[in-house]
Amino acid sequence: MSDFPAIPEGWAYLDTAATAQKPRAVIDAIARGYGETYATVHRGVYQRSADMTLAFEAARRRTAAFINARSAEEIVFLRGATEAINLVAQSWGGTFLKAGDRILLSMLEHHSNIVPWQMAADRVGAVIDVAPLTADGRIDLDAVEAMLTERHKIVALAHVSNVLGSVLDARRAVDLAHRVGANILLDGCQSVPRMPVDVQALGCDFYVFSAHKLYGPTGIGVLWGRGDLLDAMPPMHGGGAMIDKVSFEGTTYAPPPARFEAGTPHVVGVLGLHAAIDYVDGIGLDAIHAHETALVRETREALQTLNSLRLFGPEDSAGIVSFAIEGVHPHDVGTILDESRVAIRAGHHCAQPLMSHLGVDATARASFGVYNGRQDVEAFVRGIERVTRIFG
Ligand code: PMP
Repeated sequence: MSDFPAIPEGWAYLDTAATAQKPRAVIDAIARGYGETYATVHRGVYQRSADMTLAFEAARRRTAAFINARSAEEIVFLRGATEAINLVAQSWGGTFLKAGDRILLSMLEHHSNIVPWQMAADRVGAVIDVAPLTADGRIDLDAVEAMLTERHKIVALAHVSNVLGSVLDARRAVDLAHRVGANILLDGCQSVPRMPVDVQALGCDFYVFSAHKLYGPTGIGVLWGRGDLLDAMPPMHGGGAMIDKVSFEGTTYAPPPARFEAGTPHVVGVLGLHAAIDYVDGIGLDAIHAHETALVRETREALQTLNSLRLFGPEDSAGIVSFAIEGVHPHDVGTILDESRVAIRAGHHCAQPLMSHLGVDATARASFGVYNGRQDVEAFVRGIERVTRIFG
């Protein structure tokens, strides 16, 4: 707990799926980045900038090692997962999607893994298919297997659902996509902070995540792409740092990852991401996964005893529990819990198609992080009991 200065004693922060609180190591890295070592990267001829460039590229290598990328050149630093998916949809999609091609998504995707594909599909006349869910809220891979055809060029799925916490059998999803010759993008926003991820073992083609859900700063995120795919993709943004040579007769582009990193990057954000990766690796992703799984189990067991309560998602959801209380709007649940110093999220969680599928406008969602413990589950359950008393 003391690693996290923004979590005061007695406050149960259960909204890590939205954004994680920051450990002191990350805050210190950011403070050092601006307060001691600050300079831009890739341009300066002076020592400070050369040192910052080394630190920036060291963070890229660290990120590559963290998800077991083949090389640091496969790591593109962007503003977040949203920008990363937009880049793939526009750049890869603009190059490789043709009229009549199909894109396979699932019913539980975050809007940022839906809308960029709709935009890409509209541009070229491609069609989106939506994989259904199993009764307990997993992406139904049997259905995916039956749906996929040679016309499918890309499959894009959440590795862990931000609403239900359901964990995708990513290996199988990758095999199914590759069997029909499609590429597969995994949205790792909710998996990277709570389980070990090895992109080579998964065998996927693209993997995206945001630093701020991994205990790092906002404004920085990662696209990992297989080297040969990134090589074949045009840039999305033009500007400084992404070029090879510029003239009014014609401009040539730098190789990846620079090709996709136009403009001055979020230098200090990248240092913060490096510190965040060191922090979670120091604890161990296996340990974090076990810790959060135990908290989810305790939470689900406690909530199951309340008969006005509906639990969404599978038993073994990773770090995230969505629920609804009969006759109580999730926003009221959130407000009453806040009075008990328990912070949860209530809303559609940027997953409106999933809300329609569940037959609700919104859910309440508790999500866990490394700083949570039993005391938070207990405070949460006491808060829920208070909600049920107030609403009779
Ligand atoms: N996908 C999932 C599964 C998410 O949980 C989120 C964040 N809620 C995003 C994508 C988008 O991430 P960001 O807003 O950091 O770009």
